[in-house]
Amino acid sequence: MDISSRLTEIVGGDRVSDNQEELFFYSRDPGAQPPGRVDYVVMPRTVEEVRQVVLLANREKIPVTPWGGGFTLSALVVPDRGGIVLDMKQMDRILEIDEINRYALIEPGVSQGALRSYLRKHHPRLQHSTPEAPPTVTVVGNALIQGHGHISPRYGINSDMVNGMEVVLPTGKVCQIGSGSMGASWFTRGPLPDLPGLFIGWFGTTGIVTKLSLKLFPKPAFREVLAFYTDDVDLIPEGIFEVTQLDLLEDFFLISQEKPDWMNHVFFIIIISGHFEEEIGFKKKAFKDLFREFKGGGKFIFVEDLHPALEKRFLDVPPLAALAADFRKGGGFEYTGAILPIDRVPEAWRKGIEISHKYGMICSYVHQVLLGHSVMFGFNYSFNRADEEDVEKTRKALEESNRVTLDLGGMIWKGEVEAQRMTLERMDPNTVELIRGVKELLDPNGIMNPGKWEMP
Ligand SMILES: Cc1cc2nc3c(=O)[nH]c(=O)nc-3n(C[C@H](O)[C@H](O)[C@H](O)COP(=O)(O)OP(=O)(O)OC[C@H]3O[C@@H](n4cnc5c(N)ncnc54)[C@H](O)[C@@H]3O)c2cc1C
Repeated sequence: MDISSRLTEIVGGDRVSDNQEELFFYSRDPGAQPPGRVDYVVMPRTVEEVRQVVLLANREKIPVTPWGGGFTLSALVVPDRGGIVLDMKQMDRILEIDEINRYALIEPGVSQGALRSYLRKHHPRLQHSTPEAPPTVTVVGNALIQGHGHISPRYGINSDMVNGMEVVLPTGKVCQIGSGSMGASWFTRGPLPDLPGLFIGWFGTTGIVTKLSLKLFPKPAFREVLAFYTDDVDLIPEGIFEVTQLDLLEDFFLISQEKPDWMNHVFFIIIISGHFEEEIGFKKKAFKDLFREFKGGGKFIFVEDLHPALEKRFLDVPPLAALAADFRKGGGFEYTGAILPIDRVPEAWRKGIEISHKYGMICSYVHQVLLGHSVMFGFNYSFNRADEEDVEKTRKALEESNRVTLDLGGMIWKGEVEAQRMTLERMDPNTVELIRGVKELLDPNGIMNPGKWEMP
């Protein structure tokens, strides 16, 4: 029996395809990376179906690539060696919301939009950390790539919010991790050997997550946005330090764009929230005072008359901060997500402008400040998808900003294959060896998303 028929036996004919038109869709993502080859796409609905597909793939040594929303822009879901794309979207149940212990147990196909709407309707006192990505992306995909959301500056990155998970290992074993593994509720990740790290940050190369418990947080009644700007990029590190030192914010990002002219400043956007109106007044005054008497010298200006449309964009959950306009016409958008030490931001800022100008692009930035310990510094590029030359320029710009990131002592977040190669090249060889050993132990036949985190 051929592979297609065997896959059909597992999930039924309507959830398997080797039809070229459908495979075309799974052979690329919306970023600037080249397409790959896909042989089959399968949409499982149960853990047992996932397990059966993996057992078959492991026996036949067929690559398997898990696909959530497919929106990292760095082609992490695009297979490099063909094989099966396992589209998880039909495993989309919210299995449990434990309001008192503040967690959600979800399947891997639950989208950010679905979880947000569900909480709003049934548990209005709680929220989860929502990334600024399209609402169709998955909560699990985001946690697994160490993403960040609108409350990350206050509570940490989204992978830190994982209490535990259920995983189908490449050999077909189903494993539970966290307090769920003890038959207890899914309320905590430890104290135990910290196994979620075997699957977080691995880009689907070590197993398939079929359930995930995610921390939920109190949802405040009142929120307000404050905007300050300066033209001195050297004030950024001290500005970030002072703002986060106050410990009074919910979200905090920096934006700038060369066009239109009014955006060509360094904007500090601070979202404050609280359960009482008085709290908002107090926090607002604290930030205004901070910038009026800014200790770092230099000048920050409070934006008194933030346009209501902008105010709404920033206060939306998620905020629509990525104002990066479609300068090239054609809808392409890419970025190097540089996780940088705060003191390196001014240098990265200048280098980013150089790179954009070298490739004829208009410089645009959105950086989220993560807990006051690092910055997700976005070197953003808009490009025309229909223009191959423009796409090629974007790839080159990305390569340069990836290199700058590493040269500045930063880390590339969710980088494409080339960025992964650069990262491994600079890594301590013993650490590379450790990663290789873990990978071989979990995936002896190398079937999971081969090509990603490929060892040198
Ligand atoms: C305009 C825009 C703004 C964005 N802003 C943000 C932002 O503010 N914060 C942020 O964090 N991200 C942001 N992103 C990036 C990205 O869209 C999100 O992080 C998104 O949540 C990733 O989820 P996904 O479902 O698309 O993941 P996918 O691309 O489907 O998957 C990511 C990786 O995880 C693997 N994977 C997926 N599901 C599983 C599973 N069940 N088991 C094992 N492995 C799996 C995949 O193989 C892949 O390697 C943005 C993207 C865009 C386009």
